[in-house]
Amino acid sequence: MDSYHSCGHLVLAIPDIYADESEYAPRSGFFCSHCMQSVQARFDTCIYVNLQQVAPGMAAFVLEVSDSGPEFADFLAALGFACRQASLSELEPGGDVGLNPVWRKEFWFDVNIQPTHVVALMERIREEAYLLADYLPNGIAAVHFADFPKAIADIAS
Ligand SMILES: [Zn+2]
Repeated sequence: MDSYHSCGHLVLAIPDIYADESEYAPRSGFFCSHCMQSVQARFDTCIYVNLQQVAPGMAAFVLEVSDSGPEFADFLAALGFACRQASLSELEPGGDVGLNPVWRKEFWFDVNIQPTHVVALMERIREEAYLLADYLPNGIAAVHFADFPKAIADIAS
């Protein structure tokens, strides 16, 4: 049975090389990447990928997405992102939503696990960041590794 994006376009089969993405990327009921790029054109959305200490002995790869349009925000929520305050640094994760909201997703791991698991997790995070970038007009230029959302004070100046 055919399924459709909320913009009305038919959901197309994902090429085999991207098969992994279909596990965690809902498509039916959300804008297709082409229409999402159009509605996102008036937003300066950025995707930040970081490693943070989140608890004693625990670290997390963290994705934070700034300045999302409403349709992209719906998509992020379906992917498990939550609305949070933007982080300031590796050691200062954002808490409850304040003046600088972002959509945030964390992938926790024990700092004592095998490095190969960390590398696999890192690959998974990179895939997700690039998947999201497909929906943004500037593509992978929107992805920033080891950088943080700009503070309100920086944007204002
Ligand atoms: Zn569409």
